[in-house]
Amino acid sequence: MIDYEEALRLVLAHADPRGAESVPVDAAAGRVLAQDVTARISSPPFDKSAMDGYAVRAEDVARLPAELDVIGQAFAGEPARVTVGPGQACVTTTGAPVPAGADTVVMVEHTEQAGEGRVRVLKLTGTNICPEGEDVRAGDVLLRAGQVMTPLRVGVAAMAGAERVEVVRLPTAALLCTGSEVVEPGAEPGPGHIYNSNGPMLLSLLAPLCRDVTYLGIVADDEAQLEEAVRRGLEADLLVVSGGVSMGQLDLVPAVLERCGVRQVFHKVTVKPGKPVFFGEAEGGGLVLGMPGNPVSCFVIFKLLAWPALAAMAGHSEPPPHFEEGRSAEGFANRGERMNVLPCRIERTTDGPLLTPLPHHGSADLAAPSSADGYLIVPRGAQRVDAGQRLRFFTI
Ligand code: AMP
Ligand code: MG
Repeated sequence: MIDYEEALRLVLAHADPRGAESVPVDAAAGRVLAQDVTARISSPPFDKSAMDGYAVRAEDVARLPAELDVIGQAFAGEPARVTVGPGQACVTTTGAPVPAGADTVVMVEHTEQAGEGRVRVLKLTGTNICPEGEDVRAGDVLLRAGQVMTPLRVGVAAMAGAERVEVVRLPTAALLCTGSEVVEPGAEPGPGHIYNSNGPMLLSLLAPLCRDVTYLGIVADDEAQLEEAVRRGLEADLLVVSGGVSMGQLDLVPAVLERCGVRQVFHKVTVKPGKPVFFGEAEGGGLVLGMPGNPVSCFVIFKLLAWPALAAMAGHSEPPPHFEEGRSAEGFANRGERMNVLPCRIERTTDGPLLTPLPHHGSADLAAPSSADGYLIVPRGAQRVDAGQRLRFFTI
């Protein structure tokens, strides 16, 4: 039996990225870059007017007011066709290339008409020109491999001219639910049967983190049937198995995994709930997480170990869970033989997060934590928690 920190370290040590792929830039948000993004063109790509107004020569407006001949127009989206000479001005718009000869743009608000084809400049506010390459030079590295794409960075890559970007491939997953007592919602439960809550819950947790998820269905506690399903599941980057990893006579999963060539990395972690969790590596490099069947254990172990594994496989260098620190709103007794993971309400106060543990009936009671904001962590060894005591937590 190992501690959670060691279990997480072992999981992450096995959870390497599984290759890269090119995706359209507008589908890249949330993905981790596998290659730097380099600017194809400078930004701005030409000396650009920053205002609607008139392009002029600075020396012609050194003394104000000044009257100038309007000789033409230079609009955004087309090359400037005129050259601004002494005593001349050219109508311009924001984003337009600055015409040759001009070195200043006067805001339209600071001018007035001065008769047919003439403008009077009343005020100057800087040059109002963004020089070519002011923000970015062609060839500059704008985004680095390893960075997570955000909507803002999608915009940066698009600005750089990238139609597609190279990102770390998302892992594939397979999900197998075990238990002769488990039936799918929709079926008529017979005597001793329960509905499969883990299957839909785990599929919902897996889907946003994976390229695709193969659902292998419910398999009875039967070695031959389990073996067949496990072999199919081992083709995925991560096989998640619900149930069958504890000490009962029909907890056949570890033995079946071993027969399928899965090398055990650990079995049992000092967490509550979730102690019987199994982690192993298949010959082909696929990972296997065997989750205890109790739904709350399943959820907690997913958050504590499967989530970080999938995020690390997707290239995230700082995988979740991202623990925060808060204070316990209450004092309570604690059995300290394992790290305790308790559903809680989280109140964000000016004094930091305040954590109130929620009453629940243990690891089968999925209904109680469904109104939780997160889980607080009571460290192993603590015999009690005092009101106001600092505790780590994560949100769900
Ligand atoms: P196990 O880990 O297989 O010993 O299962 C522990 C407990 O979780 C038992 O009470 C099972 O009936 C229950 N359980 C197992 N699988 C599921 C599931 N997919 N959905 C809901 N409960 C389950
Ligand atoms: Mg079982």
